[in-house]
Amino acid sequence: MNQLPILPLAKSALDRDSLVRTDPNLLTELAQNSATRVLSVHDSLVRLNGNPTVEGPMLLLEPVELVPLSEIEVYLGKTLQTTTDFDGGELPAGTPVLLRVLSEDQANQLAGDWHNLRRSAAGLSELDAGLWTQALAIANWHLTHQFCPRCGSKTHPEQAGWSRRCPVDDRQVFPRTDPAIIVAVTDEEDRLLLGSQGSWEQNRWSVLAGFVEAGESLNAAVAREVFEESGIKVDDIEYLGSQPWPFPYSLMFGFKATARAGQTLQPDGEEIVKLRWVSRAELAAELDELLLPGRLSIARALIENWFGRPLEGSSR
Ligand SMILES: [Zn+2]
Repeated sequence: MNQLPILPLAKSALDRDSLVRTDPNLLTELAQNSATRVLSVHDSLVRLNGNPTVEGPMLLLEPVELVPLSEIEVYLGKTLQTTTDFDGGELPAGTPVLLRVLSEDQANQLAGDWHNLRRSAAGLSELDAGLWTQALAIANWHLTHQFCPRCGSKTHPEQAGWSRRCPVDDRQVFPRTDPAIIVAVTDEEDRLLLGSQGSWEQNRWSVLAGFVEAGESLNAAVAREVFEESGIKVDDIEYLGSQPWPFPYSLMFGFKATARAGQTLQPDGEEIVKLRWVSRAELAAELDELLLPGRLSIARALIENWFGRPLEGSSR
């Protein structure tokens, strides 16, 4: 298996411009600058232009066009290339983009529909894909980490939305990212190990995955998760690529590994209830019946990487 290509949610066309975040007036200045564009997010939903296809473009408005101000504002960065604006105009390189995370009341004040892009984000442009992923991950962190872990006081955003600080004990907290591993395990016949979770529809299959535990290396997490879920010991663990997974704020690390010969598959019965080894010919023959991971996922990319080409027709 090869290194993975740049995955749908690993795309970006933004310079995060992180050095300017320390300027305490930055958000105010950006909000007063007509060159700034604002992306508003509500409950992981975004607004698209006009009567949109579900693949964007996302609505980026001038600050004055967006009525509500938000308690959670984040400077996402500046565009790297000149792009076409949602209304056909030109968005020059260097355009600053501000995120506003809106409450339900604020969202209801705005015209237009809110969209969940989770099923369609694989078709987004580089700029939209990167903005969407970055916006969801940072918004989800703010919304779930509003209180100081030491004293419980309400914390306040600072660093242009890239940290929060407690007004009582001055503790600063930073955005959280949860690492997870996902792994394509093959056997001596180069068959791929697929598992099916008890909570899934019948005949939905994917490669094995799990969160990295505290104080654990990525490679150790791969070996542990595969053994826990399948009873299989693996060797030759190799990193293939990563992508952020902002549901709510994970980072997926993709690996391959080889199963030692002569082992029996033993599903854990808790998370994974069925396991199977599948050859390329078997997978090709069953494509119409099998439910495989969506096109946005690194799981899909790992399966296609092993298979040798995109799996058309099975995007469910
Ligand atoms: Zn505190």
